[in-house]
Amino acid sequence: MTDGRPTSDFDDVCGIVANETRFSILQALWDAHTETPAEIEGPERDPVPFSELRERVGVQDSGRFNYHLSELVPRFVQHREDGYALTHTGARIVGAAVSGVYTETDTELDPTAVGDCGVPDCDGTLEASYEDGHVTVACDGCDVRIVMHAPPILIGAHDIESNPDTLQQYTLSEIQKTIRGFCPLCNGPIDTRVARAHLDGEAPEDDRVKITHQCRECGQVSHTSAVSLLLDHPAVVSLLYEAGYDYRDVALWRRPDSVESAEFIVDDDPVQVEVTVTVDDEPLRFLLDGELQVIEYERP
Ligand SMILES: [Zn+2]
Ligand SMILES: [Zn+2]
Repeated sequence: MTDGRPTSDFDDVCGIVANETRFSILQALWDAHTETPAEIEGPERDPVPFSELRERVGVQDSGRFNYHLSELVPRFVQHREDGYALTHTGARIVGAAVSGVYTETDTELDPTAVGDCGVPDCDGTLEASYEDGHVTVACDGCDVRIVMHAPPILIGAHDIESNPDTLQQYTLSEIQKTIRGFCPLCNGPIDTRVARAHLDGEAPEDDRVKITHQCRECGQVSHTSAVSLLLDHPAVVSLLYEAGYDYRDVALWRRPDSVESAEFIVDDDPVQVEVTVTVDDEPLRFLLDGELQVIEYERP
């Protein structure tokens, strides 16, 4: 929780949705919309007539049903001339539930090979596994181990075993959303800065600069390296492209041998971080400020 959050509004929203009948109404509208996906075009969904909606929810008492339905209008449900439809907010609430409680298939992922380890002198294989909402990518030959949050639907509805790159695409989209300033949980604004430990002179566990991304709205914190912020900088994208790599395929856990990066804090007052990305021995040097904006870059 953070100061300035509209608390009473937030409680209102939770109160409206945290009722079985009301959630069943949202779910019935979701089901109606997803049964005829071809007809969902543009922002407006096909409305469901009142009587059909009541039948889907299974509430006999028309007055009681009407009361709960009216509580959901206009924030979560649109009332149109010919019936009711989910608003985008209503659809996001059911979508989050669907994403989190994916039950149609097993949401465990046994260790699945996702590629060779990129660590020099390691012949190991990287394997991905999924448990309790986390994807772990680990090398069977060295101590490379990356753990990421992922919703059960990622494993339940996507075919990770035959297409493990799905994990990479998901992770990339989450990182991009974060570094563009949107919280992946609540879409609130993100503050990005160098982790305090580095500025206080504590020894980092590896040579990467730990960057902290914190949501101003919900407090969610995530960490990346500094080079992650530059992966889609136009200069890096073109350097990779010239060397025959598509940056969208460069996974956190599968960096090509000929791509290297180094990063360190060159000044702490004001904070400046230097990142060097080297592709096929061609270096690119960036200087970032305390907000991690690029203030200088050169291709020597
Ligand atoms: Zn390894
Ligand atoms: Zn947030």
